[in-house]
Amino acid sequence: MNNGKNDVSEVLDAVIVGAGFSGLYMLIRLRELGLKCAVIEKGGDVGGTWYWNRYPGARCDIDSVDYCYSFSPKLLKEWRWTERFATQPEILRYLEFVAKTFDLKRDIRFSSTVLSAEFDENADTWLVSTSYGERIEAKYLVMAVGNLSEPKRPDIQGADQFIGNELHTSKWPKDGVDFTGCEVGIIGTGSSGIQAIPLIANQAKHLYVFQRTPNYSMPARNAPLEPNYIEEVLADFEKRRETSRRSDAGTPFPPSNKATFEVSDEERSAMFEAGWKRGGINSLSYAFNDFFTDEIANQEAQNFARKKIQEIVHDPITAKSLSPIHHIGTKRTCVDTNYFETYNRENVTLVDLRSDPIQEITPHGVTTKSRNIKLDSLVYAVGFDAVTGALNAINIVGRGGQRLRDAWNDGPATYLGLMVSGFPNMFLVTGPGSPGVLSNMVVSIEQHIDWIAGAIEHLNSRSFTRIEASSDAQDQWVAHVNELAEGTLYPQATSWYLGSNITGKARVFMPYVNGCGNYRSECEAVVRDGYRGFQLTTGSFIQQREDA
Ligand code: FAD
Ligand code: NAP
Repeated sequence: MNNGKNDVSEVLDAVIVGAGFSGLYMLIRLRELGLKCAVIEKGGDVGGTWYWNRYPGARCDIDSVDYCYSFSPKLLKEWRWTERFATQPEILRYLEFVAKTFDLKRDIRFSSTVLSAEFDENADTWLVSTSYGERIEAKYLVMAVGNLSEPKRPDIQGADQFIGNELHTSKWPKDGVDFTGCEVGIIGTGSSGIQAIPLIANQAKHLYVFQRTPNYSMPARNAPLEPNYIEEVLADFEKRRETSRRSDAGTPFPPSNKATFEVSDEERSAMFEAGWKRGGINSLSYAFNDFFTDEIANQEAQNFARKKIQEIVHDPITAKSLSPIHHIGTKRTCVDTNYFETYNRENVTLVDLRSDPIQEITPHGVTTKSRNIKLDSLVYAVGFDAVTGALNAINIVGRGGQRLRDAWNDGPATYLGLMVSGFPNMFLVTGPGSPGVLSNMVVSIEQHIDWIAGAIEHLNSRSFTRIEASSDAQDQWVAHVNELAEGTLYPQATSWYLGSNITGKARVFMPYVNGCGNYRSECEAVVRDGYRGFQLTTGSFIQQREDA
């Protein structure tokens, strides 16, 4: 079929890019609306994050019973998690199970990359080109490309010279890696590095950890899930999930209503200890309500976390090197099993790059200012071009020939993190300007997909052909997101939230910090107000304009 355009190979209602949690659920929802869709996925199978990140120790750090879909009673009935924090293989099995349950793979094209997408203003359609040579015309384009899916290239002198076994946590070989008897180096101590280090150390002859910035990490306290506990959670699941949906972080645990200095020193210490004992990402951040906003309050939590590191790590110099100094929580807090304990092993050496920087990667290892370290394997755990990387990797051309990359040159701008002015009928999932990456992402993903499906249903049922965010609404949203962030400590850290991990990337704090619940209410209000801030049109006739 070609709709009269010679170079179009296929005409569909919607193209969805990506087959992770977002793309799979979007496909289910759009099929329910009767749309003919295709999912285009770069990877060889479903899973997204959980397809690519197969490094040892990879697991979620949100409780498994919450890090899953809630939309399907069948999935809830038939799936059982086995651990508090599921491993990568278990989450991948879950997503395979979802794909099988809903027979999704017949509409997914694997090992195909979307290279470009161009909006046709006359037809109100997108023309999507893939590495497979397809040219698909579709009314709607859903970018379910992930926030943490575009790996950062190691920006280190000589990075292409190493002739040993070079590995990237975000592109880990499917068959695993055996480090037995090997001298191994790992660069990066973010969440990925911190999960991988204890397991690589268990196997390697010697592990050198190259650390530029130490990070705060909370103990996971991972454990098998008792069947009784799971049944208890499931019995009340809808209530638990609704609490998550209306919460700040997309989790069912209530934040504290107490400020740090409202309590005595003893009480404060007891609350931090209780959090540390409970474990998980919010071990300390949920103790008090001024954790992210008050510098002095935040210091109390920092001091507690540094004291714990000093108690665990025997060598005082190593302990000091491992002790972070930034405001806790402003770079994403990590969650680990035996991370700090690993530095007590004889076969692990911490190389503190602040005092002994890497000069170059050589064919046989790493040269720092003070020494040459010979390695058999070098693991890069250096992170991602987060939030905007996967979008900017595609040549997206909107109205008037404008490229998304150019529109976002000074930092991303969206309305609600869902749409971009000038790029009609293109939806983002958990895009910049939404709370996505600061939350349990599955809760945020479900909300976004439901919102997008609702918008598409609204358009189709009223014969609108185009939806676009107005530039005024977008400007106001961007200003609001920035203002909220400025009221917190977040922008003070050099973090991927701000784009500061990528050379040359604009420094803009990307997430919405006011919580999933407030954000959801705003998205609902926008719909109630007749898609306030969006222009819905049929051909050139504007049926609905943004509110004045
Ligand atoms: P992804 O899972 O990233 O899927 C996007 C897909 O799009 C990818 O498969 C990619 O190949 C594909 N794609 C991208 N560009 C193109 C293109 N041009 N053409 C074709 N295909 C393309 N979040 C939490 O809330 N809790 C956690 O515990 C947690 N743990 C994480 C652990 C790791 C190691 C990482 C990296 C992230 C983690 N996250 C976690 C965030 C995680 O990314 C999200 O929770 C969630 O999996 C995102 O789903 P998604 O479908 O939106 O994106
Ligand atoms: P990351 O948090 O960005 O960490 C990257 C690490 O590499 C940092 O320690 C960074 O140091 C270091 N690095 C980067 N470039 C370097 C260089 N040139 N020289 C030396 N060091 C360099 O990436 P990530 O660990 O992959 O995690 C990304 C996000 O994915 C997380 O924040 C989280 O949202 C998610 N994730 C979650 C889990 C989980 O527990 N469930 C696991 C993995 C990932 P600097 O800090 O100095 O830049």
